Amino acid sequence: MSQPTDADCIFCKIVAGKIPCFKLHEDEATIAFMDINPVNPGHALSVAKGHWPTVDVIPTAILAAVAATAQRVATAVTKELKPAGVNLLQANGVGAGQSVPHLHIHIMPRRAGDNVSLNWGYTPGDMKEIEAIYKRLKAAM
Ligand code: AMP
Ligand code: ZN
Repeated sequence: MSQPTDADCIFCKIVAGKIPCFKLHEDEATIAFMDINPVNPGHALSVAKGHWPTVDVIPTAILAAVAATAQRVATAVTKELKPAGVNLLQANGVGAGQSVPHLHIHIMPRRAGDNVSLNWGYTPGDMKEIEAIYKRLKAAM
């Protein structure tokens, strides 16, 4: 299957074998490897083999394959490392903290008191505002 690629992309280079990685898994559509800047031990990435930057442009079946690989890695992380919890995180765009514009899901083991700032408190929203945004989104789907 021919997939888009970008010669300047670090993950495309990993997919092509031009840059080494600690590879956990590979199949037709995805690859999973260890993150080299782990927030906690066991932090890994499930990555599409093709170069699609974000969820709004990647084919649905490929996104599903990336999710399935993330599930496989998260299961191994849970069984083997027994973390306090695991976050799956996927960023779209620089404004969301995406540094590599090639779709991937982080598998992040969590430890008590690790101070990884992904958790936000519950602040009740304005129902009128929620409803107004809901109507716009519903119409866009
Ligand atoms: P994001 O900021 O969500 O785009 O995540 C990109 C992730 O890729 C970061 O957590 C980086 O640590 C990781 N990363 C960047 N280059 C490499 C590499 N060569 N091998 C493994 N992980 C990498
Ligand atoms: Zn790429």
